[in-house]
Amino acid sequence: MDLSWTPQQQELHDRFRRCQPDDGADWKTLANAQVMALPIPTEYGGLDQTPLSCAYALEGLGYGCRDIGLLVRAGAHLWAVEIPLLRYGTREQRQAYLPGSAEGRLIGAHAITEAESGSDALAMAAVARREAEGYVLNGRKRFVTNAPEADVFVVYATVNPALGFTGVTAFLVERDNPGLRVEPELRKAGLESCPWGQVVLEECAVGPEGVLGAVKQGSEIFGTVMAWERTLILAPLVGAMERQIEECIERARSRRQFGRRIGSFQSVSHRIVEMRHRLETSRGLLRSAAAELARPRGPREAPSILPELVKLHVSEAAVATFDDAMQIFGALGYTEEAGIEQRLRDALGTRISSGTSDMQREVIAGKLGLK
Ligand SMILES: Cc1cc2nc3c(=O)[nH]c(=O)nc-3n(C[C@H](O)[C@H](O)[C@H](O)COP(=O)(O)OP(=O)(O)OC[C@H]3O[C@@H](n4cnc5c(N)ncnc54)[C@H](O)[C@@H]3O)c2cc1C
Repeated sequence: MDLSWTPQQQELHDRFRRCQPDDGADWKTLANAQVMALPIPTEYGGLDQTPLSCAYALEGLGYGCRDIGLLVRAGAHLWAVEIPLLRYGTREQRQAYLPGSAEGRLIGAHAITEAESGSDALAMAAVARREAEGYVLNGRKRFVTNAPEADVFVVYATVNPALGFTGVTAFLVERDNPGLRVEPELRKAGLESCPWGQVVLEECAVGPEGVLGAVKQGSEIFGTVMAWERTLILAPLVGAMERQIEECIERARSRRQFGRRIGSFQSVSHRIVEMRHRLETSRGLLRSAAAELARPRGPREAPSILPELVKLHVSEAAVATFDDAMQIFGALGYTEEAGIEQRLRDALGTRISSGTSDMQREVIAGKLGLK
């Protein structure tokens, strides 16, 4: 794979890497930096970057911006709302939502999980009843990232529960639809700056213009979303790990115990080597998977396992890295002020969202023909 970056890709990466917003960083900060415009074609006001270029830019952003929750919520908007709109939206839908999404003026949310269908997401209870004027949705979605602030929701419901996953259909529902309301969700253990909520659909009428893709195409759309989201949503964590490791090296070089720098103790230096190993394998996998996303797959080609491998590896690597960092910084690392505990709690959430680590293994095993 050719990894020589063009001047534009390098400039984007460097600009994001230098973007070190203080604690006041918010959605607007990222919107002004054009983060939400990354994959959107220029005709809709976007930067038209390839998945590989997006990955590189977001690695830079994760190094610069320390708020992992903010970066995860931007990722949900980018990969689970912008991408299905781009791939499956009609011309009218793309024109209605993409310019605002690229500017960050419109916030998107992706609602599929329910109380009784989490890992088995397509076994949903939410139904879409056919009416003369379109569809009427009823159901309750849980743990929906961005829901409290979202303007548009990609919502999944089945047009016929007897059809199983083949009845699932995706809909675009606007926040001011009187049949949709957002209720508070339980509090998270981390990712506090990534708001989530429950999305309640009660006799929520959606016209034919609100169907995303074709009726019963929801499982394919969800599959596309997962391929993009699992590949790219954790790209900022690669940059976050890089910065954390640099700080650990600095600490191991300067902190002295027993008359020696702690980095001279093999247990500390080898821990850092392991951290670096995980960083490089995460980066390599991310870039391979991102490059592969842009390549059309042949009809006889086996489905790619790279999205699941990236999601599994980077989330586990991030948890292990922040855990290691806490050990290297000792008591200081265990303080709120050091920020490591926050990053560790944030990383724990990334092992569950977009499918748990065990589910990534299950999907990979299935794609390898082992099930
Ligand atoms: C931070 C965060 C953000 C999220 N954002 C969104 C969002 O924006 N939109 C949305 O719709 N949802 C969202 N979710 C929900 C998320 O998609 C689900 O939590 C996830 O898919 C797991 O479902 P569950 O929590 O119901 O766990 P369950 O499905 O109940 O799983 C519980 C345990 O059983 C294991 N398990 C289940 N089935 C199998 C199997 N077949 N093989 C092996 N192990 C299995 C799981 O690995 C897990 O360990 C988010 C979750 C988190 C944590």
